[in-house]
Formats: sequence, C-alpha cells, structure tokens
Amino acid sequence: MRTVPKGQTIYAFAPEISPVMSVEPQEPVIFETIDALGGQVQAEDDAVESLDFSRVNPATGPVRIVGAEPGDALAVEIRSIELADRGAIIAGPGMGVLGDVIERPVTRLLEVVGDTVQFAGLELPVAPMIGVIGVAPEEGSFPTGTAHRHGGNMDAREIGPGATVYLPVAQPGALLAMGDVHAVMGDGEVCVSACEVSASVRVVLRLVKGGAPRWPVVETAEEIILLVSLPTIDEALHEATSEAVRALQKALSLPFEEAYLLASLSANLGVSQLVDPNKTAKAVLPKTLVGPFERWCGASP
Ligand code: CA
Repeated sequence: MRTVPKGQTIYAFAPEISPVMSVEPQEPVIFETIDALGGQVQAEDDAVESLDFSRVNPATGPVRIVGAEPGDALAVEIRSIELADRGAIIAGPGMGVLGDVIERPVTRLLEVVGDTVQFAGLELPVAPMIGVIGVAPEEGSFPTGTAHRHGGNMDAREIGPGATVYLPVAQPGALLAMGDVHAVMGDGEVCVSACEVSASVRVVLRLVKGGAPRWPVVETAEEIILLVSLPTIDEALHEATSEAVRALQKALSLPFEEAYLLASLSANLGVSQLVDPNKTAKAVLPKTLVGPFERWCGASP
C-alpha cells in the first residue's frame, strides 16, 4: 500500500508545487492527514489567538496521478477514514456565523471513543469527512483554506467513506492533496471549526477521460451533490442552482426551461459551510432521477 506520510504537507494548491509521489490509477493510496489546526491544540487553554495561522489547514500531498490530463475528471473513491482518538473544536470573537456575539475564545478537546464523539456529556455519532480535498488549479494559487473550482476547503459533510469525489483536472498529473478531516460536523460549520482530527484516509484514484466537471461533484449511493464555492453564499447558491439545471439537462437531454422546472421539483439546495473565505453551497439531486455522474459527465451543455 502506498502511503503519503503526514509530514508531506502543503498550504496552497498550485501548479508549480512538486508532487511527493506518483501513483497509477486504481492503485490504493493512504493519505496520513494532520488536523486542520496543525496539531497546535493539545489542551483546552490553547485558545484560537495563540495559533500560528501559517500552520493551519495543512493538506497532505500533492500526489501526481499517472496519465491525468486537463479536461479529465479525477475520481477519488473514499474507502475508509481512520480517526485519531482525540479531536478539538475552537471558536472566538470575530470568527464563525456568530462571531459578533461570542465574547471570549473557547477550545474543547473531544474524545473519539468507538463510534462516538464525546461532548459535554453527550455522545454524538461519528460521521467522518474530509474538509479539504483538491487538485492544482488552472491558474494561480489557492491557499488550502479557500475552496473554488479545484476543490479545497469545501467542508462538505458528504465527502466521507463510500463517497466518490470528482475533481476537474486542470494540470498534468492533477496534483491531489487532502486534509482537514472532521469526526463530525453539521452543515454550515457555524462556529468556524468542527471536530478537527488527524486521520488516515484510504482512497482509490481513477480517471474519467474528458469528464471534468465545472465544479467538484460528490456521488454517494443515493445522491449526486454539486458543490460550488464563491465569496458569498448567495453567489454560491445561484451557481449551484445553475449546476443542478445543467446536470439535469445533461442527464436527461432536456432544454433549459424543462430542466429549470425539474430542478425546482427535485433539487435540494443547501449549505456546506458558511465560515471559510469562500462559502460552499450544494445542490443535491437524487440518483433515481439522474443516475451516476459518469453516465452524463461528458454530455453537453
Ligand atoms: Ca475546513
């Protein structure tokens, strides 16, 4: 099994960053990830203002995928996520949705015990997910804390075991990296962080030649989730709606107007996160309607 060790981290997705490893499609790979706080929170008096932000949001990689070319979709099949036994959550003034309300910084360490996360005497079911996953963008450089077309810090709950993430390859070799695993998170990630844990993520990578989506797509057993990340949630929701209509047009060969009405009948719009530099909206379509992504990804428009 090929393993990308947790020391191999990047803080930006960019074309010029040298890959740490080359892997063949279909080859299983393990990414050892560090928590999004860079392992800096080890006690409840490690508050947010003491963090070195240059060490926040490390992503493990990048990995070059042999044969990946611009215009392909990189399929990342998430086989398993093994969690560390302790995570942390932080909040503070000026951060998160209620950054104007919270008066003092707060840090909590969270024990991960079996299938539960312990918080304030409660047992929350673990639901592991990858917060940051992406490839090198077409141009420029994106900090790992920022999401856009290349993926990045999308903080989508659906990016967990059993799901496949389709990313648009924009550079030869794709240059995949990931990190920021959460043991559990609610849509919105309202306080600015979730149960931030180190993890071991096992994936299988595949290429769909010519199948690049415009924005990252997640496929689960039941759903297609279209993820759009833009500076405001309003812009992101508008574009996610366009993506849902486009997906319906492609999958069902419908004209725009029919697909627009069908989107209103069948697409569930929502929020993945409201707290990162770009906000992430999602449009969720049932596979009973559109089928698997790979059946229609190459179709026009
Ligand atoms: Ca995140």
